Amino acid sequence: MLLRVTYPEVAVEDYYPLLSSQLVDELKSLAHEVKDLRFVHLNSTAIGGGVAEILQSLVPMMNALGVHTERVVINPPPQFFQVTKKLHNTLQGAEGTLSKDELGLYLNTIQDVANDMQQRSLDADIWFFHDPQLLPLASMLPKQPNETRLWVCHIDLTAPNQSVIDQLLPLTSAYDGLVFSLDAYVPAGLDPSLPVFIVPPAIDPLTDKNVPLSEAEALKIVSKMGVDPKRPLITQVSRFDLWKDPWGVIDAYRIARKEVAGLQLALLGLSQAIDDPESLQVRDQVAQYAEDDPDIHLYFDATGLPVSIDRVVNAFQVASQVVMQKSLREGFGLTVAEAMWKARPLIGGDVGGIRIQVEDGVTGYLVKSPEECAQRIVSLLKDPELRTRMGRAARESVRQRYLLPRLAVDYLKAALARRANINGQSGLNGNRPNGFADLEHLRLEDAAPTKAAVKVRAKRSKGRSAA
Ligand code: UDP
Repeated sequence: MLLRVTYPEVAVEDYYPLLSSQLVDELKSLAHEVKDLRFVHLNSTAIGGGVAEILQSLVPMMNALGVHTERVVINPPPQFFQVTKKLHNTLQGAEGTLSKDELGLYLNTIQDVANDMQQRSLDADIWFFHDPQLLPLASMLPKQPNETRLWVCHIDLTAPNQSVIDQLLPLTSAYDGLVFSLDAYVPAGLDPSLPVFIVPPAIDPLTDKNVPLSEAEALKIVSKMGVDPKRPLITQVSRFDLWKDPWGVIDAYRIARKEVAGLQLALLGLSQAIDDPESLQVRDQVAQYAEDDPDIHLYFDATGLPVSIDRVVNAFQVASQVVMQKSLREGFGLTVAEAMWKARPLIGGDVGGIRIQVEDGVTGYLVKSPEECAQRIVSLLKDPELRTRMGRAARESVRQRYLLPRLAVDYLKAALARRANINGQSGLNGNRPNGFADLEHLRLEDAAPTKAAVKVRAKRSKGRSAA
């Protein structure tokens, strides 16, 4: 039921030239303060989607800072993800409710996770349980005296389906604190004594996805994938998901193309998040909607790519004159920050996290309809100077606010704020038994071309059954 995700080492100093000296100092001093504590992040998938993306960078960086940080993913039956996808959709406002059976499956699966954790005596000082998938966990584990348990919710809760949020809210009371990406996502009806932290996510500037890539190299890659490098290109990078509004993107492209001859559109959905069972269906519907337009490039299958998925994403963002994230709900768009980091103006849906990420008219545009999106595409494509100016501002705003070390500082502060309220905490130390080492390992390779590939190393716990 549980897998420990491990990583090759990284050099934390490589981040420093990109940061203010104040942030570097803060990071080092907080890391020093928690050097005797064990942090553990638990989420539902090792790869694919924003949370996996963040953790696969955050965890090795924290360890490089000397903060003992583990990452564990659950390994539930596929039906669990059918239910949690529904949960995700309804929490973002979709109609519907969880049936008794669905709720039962959800809670029973997490109960199995809790049992497995107890059986293995996994212990930590600070736990981060990510997203609704893991929400019930704290209520199913007896609280240890020195533990701090935080629930991190990454989704857009601006207008949740009330019946579902009512089912879930009681589960929050087992936590020491809750973390949301935006103020606007803090649900009404929370226990007012429960501390809430607002921590927007961040991107890793040192991954293959975000390191500098020349335009020439980017064009070479996208042309190997069927794009004409001589004609204008606009892109949206996203899982095929209804909230990402791929249909609206195609509508905007169709309108814009009337004014920009030869315009091409790429929809890049190579991410294979196993917790997103709907993506195949959405992809098929989008493919149908795109008809036979040879200038709409849909990418879904990650086999046979010329380079790694990360590098492909990088290349499309760099090779595009404009990048879109026309979401209808978006907790926080990592893709938004990724494109802005490449100095590309971003046209985003005027929703959720995108509203704080994009300064309308300065670092990109916020739009409410395909028509408005098309209008912004056209004006940006016709004005290279505007693109350059906005792109520069976009990159600088990401540098200041949305790079990984800032997220690390915020998580450490949240954890420490809660520990200050717990009496009798001892300085825990790294020498105690580490039950995590006995879990089956899932090693995430750092080698760029295979970052998406994972190698499972069988390392069964001695004599204990793996659920
Ligand atoms: N992603 C990717 N390949 C794709 C599509 C998406 O690697 O073809 C990555 C994307 O670059 C980003 C993450 O998946 O890092 C998606 O995170 P985001 O917060 O934008 O959306 P989520 O999928 O979590 O809703």
